[in-house]
Amino acid sequence: MADTIFGKIIRGEIPCHRVYEDDHVLAFMDISPLSRGHVLVIPKEPAETLDKLSDDASAAIGRVLPRLCRAVMAATGTSAFNVLQNNGTRAHQAVHHVHFHIIPKTDDTGLGIDWNPIKPDDTASLAKDIASKL
Ligand code: AMP
Repeated sequence: MADTIFGKIIRGEIPCHRVYEDDHVLAFMDISPLSRGHVLVIPKEPAETLDKLSDDASAAIGRVLPRLCRAVMAATGTSAFNVLQNNGTRAHQAVHHVHFHIIPKTDDTGLGIDWNPIKPDDTASLAKDIASKL
């Protein structure tokens, strides 16, 4: 995949406000936060979207993500937060290196969601189709 700004942050070529780091994961403050305490969690493995991430890198993120959420909650004094993970430009991914947003919801700032459910008529067959592709 092409190099991204997050690759440069991992290599220390550009600065960040680091929150957490281990061999596989880096977490740092979002430069343009949706709310106070907005943190990004990224794998060091260079994968563009979540579907391309290895099991090991996924597990490393999964191991630390709840702990990072708890730290954000404690530091911002809120029990409400969103975890957001965008894949693909159409899904609002701007930086093409996998990342998870932890976005506290303490007031009117934070993630706004326009949730418009649809009524598909093929849910049963689609479930089978998805399961068959695993
Ligand atoms: P997304 O739309 O999911 O790709 O979000 C990318 C996020 O990366 C945005 O919230 C940006 O504010 C954030 N971002 C971009 N450049 C930097 C940077 N240099 N340091 C920290 N966060 C960044």
